[in-house]
Amino acid sequence: MPYPDASLEAIDTICNNAWKAFHEYRLLSLKQRADFMRAIAQKLDNADPSLISTAMAETHLPEARLRSEKARTVFQLTSYAAACERGTWLDARIDTAITSKNPAQPDLRKTLTPLGPVVVFGASNFPFAYSTAGGDTACAFAAGCPVIVKGHPAHAGTSQMVANLILEAARETHMPDHVFAHVHGSGFEVGKALVEHPRVKAVGFTGSFAGGKQLWDWANARPEPIPVFAEMGSINPVFLFPEKLEKATKEIADMYAASVTTSVGQFCTNPGLIIGVESEALSKFIDILGEGIAATPPADMLHAGIAKAYAEKRKNALSQDQVTEVAESRNASEGAQGIATIATAPASAFLGNPVLHQEVFGPYSIVIQCRDLTEMYNLAMKLEGQLTTSLMATDQDIQQNPALVEAIKNIAGRFIMNGVPTGVTVALSMQHGGPYPATTDSRWSAVGADGIKRFARPVCYQNWSDYLLPDELKNANPLGIWRTVNDILTKDAVQ
Ligand code: NAP
Repeated sequence: MPYPDASLEAIDTICNNAWKAFHEYRLLSLKQRADFMRAIAQKLDNADPSLISTAMAETHLPEARLRSEKARTVFQLTSYAAACERGTWLDARIDTAITSKNPAQPDLRKTLTPLGPVVVFGASNFPFAYSTAGGDTACAFAAGCPVIVKGHPAHAGTSQMVANLILEAARETHMPDHVFAHVHGSGFEVGKALVEHPRVKAVGFTGSFAGGKQLWDWANARPEPIPVFAEMGSINPVFLFPEKLEKATKEIADMYAASVTTSVGQFCTNPGLIIGVESEALSKFIDILGEGIAATPPADMLHAGIAKAYAEKRKNALSQDQVTEVAESRNASEGAQGIATIATAPASAFLGNPVLHQEVFGPYSIVIQCRDLTEMYNLAMKLEGQLTTSLMATDQDIQQNPALVEAIKNIAGRFIMNGVPTGVTVALSMQHGGPYPATTDSRWSAVGADGIKRFARPVCYQNWSDYLLPDELKNANPLGIWRTVNDILTKDAVQ
């Protein structure tokens, strides 16, 4: 079913309405916001089976994967609702007045206040978890911000169905009108108009580097620039340390053959770069990995645009100087989508060629062969920001290479020991973000309830009467939340 693009007039009305809603929604209690989020979660959980069948038809993702992603999205909503209510994210701080100081210290109380309407752009590879009712939407609602979602054209029907559930939940929990809106747009005009609208105060984006960077540029060119929290692509380097590789060659190769090809490689955490030191063990690793890749049949990708981009980027990467193809899906017919591929190149070729540093979004990875650990260190020092790095290493490998390990830790937001980067657990201690170009702001996480803080800003109340303060800052601590009072973390009332 075709969904017409929103007109510029409609976008203007929607943004102005969101601004009006903001002034009511921001005043609701943490519990009211959490109840709204739980109502969305419940509706998603109990959604008609046609939601899954629509998502299957639009994305080519299998039913089991979509069901588990939907369950994850329900968990995101309920766990972020619980975090919203717990109030720790407000980071409330109180420094009571000290009159004996010269000059006297005033009574100072700091909390977070919501930014305003947030525009959310979801990614095609996560039609639930990073889309309409996904992490960014949940975080913005928890922070006290209305949300305008630009539905991803690759799953417009799924997005519309989820949007309808959110609107129902908003009505049933008596949220302000226009706390949520959903628009369609198959070109870039709709996204541009949303990002540039003066009533929009922040953007949450999950998608390609080109898309995120474009939105960030538009947001910064506004008369009033706004933050864009863009979670973009990454090649997620994997470092094979010599002792571990020697001891577990086949185990690691099998593990990575699966990780590169799961969901036709369509994960931002796909291991697109594997780095080892030339040795018999590395050659054996490449052979076994190649066998695993050859045994993976080609499969339909999310949509025609992604398949086309994969075919082009794969071809371009394989045509680079000193790059050798090791293996690809056996019996791939002409024009087949998602042909799993593994390539290899010497570190010198990788270091001098920026094309090889770019994400090839799909079931593709390249094994880079270093002459020695010094070359591996030099390579780690030259890598751009990443979402993750993985270390396949024994404790001895780690202890013997402190400079290399520090270099690996400096380029990403999450460091995985003896595992694969695919699979992101939703938890408070998760960090899903990393230095640019993996994200536009590495200080935040898009996964876990810490993501709520992205859509709020700190404010300080100086010398206010207790009854006029927001609840989280009142002496009695009526919300019962953790606060830092005169440098001590406590739930106690201020005496
Ligand atoms: P995408 O093509 O960038 O699309 C994401 C959204 O951004 C869509 O709504 C798209 O609208 C819009 N968009 C893209 N380019 C734009 C531009 N120049 N101007 C305005 N709007 C633009 O990404 P995708 O294909 O959905 O997802 C795959 C990418 O997402 C991969 O690179 C993957 O690594 C990344 N990803 C990252 C994470 C993470 O957490 N870091 C998670 C999942 C996926 P149109 O479709 O209308 O262009």
